[in-house]
Amino acid sequence: MAQGHSIEDYIETIYFLAFPVGEYRPTTKGSPTLAVRVADMLGVSRASAGEMLKRLENDGLVERGEHREAILTPKGREVAERVVRRHRIIERLLTDFMGYTAAEAHEQADLLGDTFTDEMIERISAQLGNPERCPHGWPVDTDVEQAENRELEPLADLEPGTRAEIVRLAEHDGEILHLYYDEGLVPGTRIELRMVERDSDRFTVRLNGDERALSEKAAAGLFVRPA
Ligand SMILES: [Zn+2]
Repeated sequence: MAQGHSIEDYIETIYFLAFPVGEYRPTTKGSPTLAVRVADMLGVSRASAGEMLKRLENDGLVERGEHREAILTPKGREVAERVVRRHRIIERLLTDFMGYTAAEAHEQADLLGDTFTDEMIERISAQLGNPERCPHGWPVDTDVEQAENRELEPLADLEPGTRAEIVRLAEHDGEILHLYYDEGLVPGTRIELRMVERDSDRFTVRLNGDERALSEKAAAGLFVRPA
């Protein structure tokens, strides 16, 4: 996923940074700049991320806060909420109707971009029975999402020995998303964080009676509800 990110990917990423899960907040000192964080999340160069951020700023969708953190303008928030909601409904169209796997759905939904009008999206949602979540666990209703954020934590932030249920999967990194499905780390799965070895970037989790090792990046993208 080194290329081909749409403007919607960027909006989604900034939306995610604006409404983060758990205690995670942009820090004031020594934190990477917004462009670096967006670039890192999307696996693109810092230059491409910086360019896209400028474009979003010029369009009045994003502004920089006191500490240069991501702030969506009211217009930006409205656009972002529409974009993420639409993305989640299209992902369900792809999995529920078109037979794509959940692992494939995110990339395929990106390919469709804004093919559908807002009215078509509403009809698709109704035809699918108004699904509540995307295949990766993200609520279609952004108010529900933002309220639920307070209950969730990235697995990487937990103490060893904590049991939790996987609620959402980070989906901006295609490789890691596929890994989650290959390893059975899917929404609704109960896991226990067994061991954390930060030196060797190794998080050991137990699920379904088995132990798996995850990188910190993979552990940071599993949003769980501690039991
Ligand atoms: Zn999704």
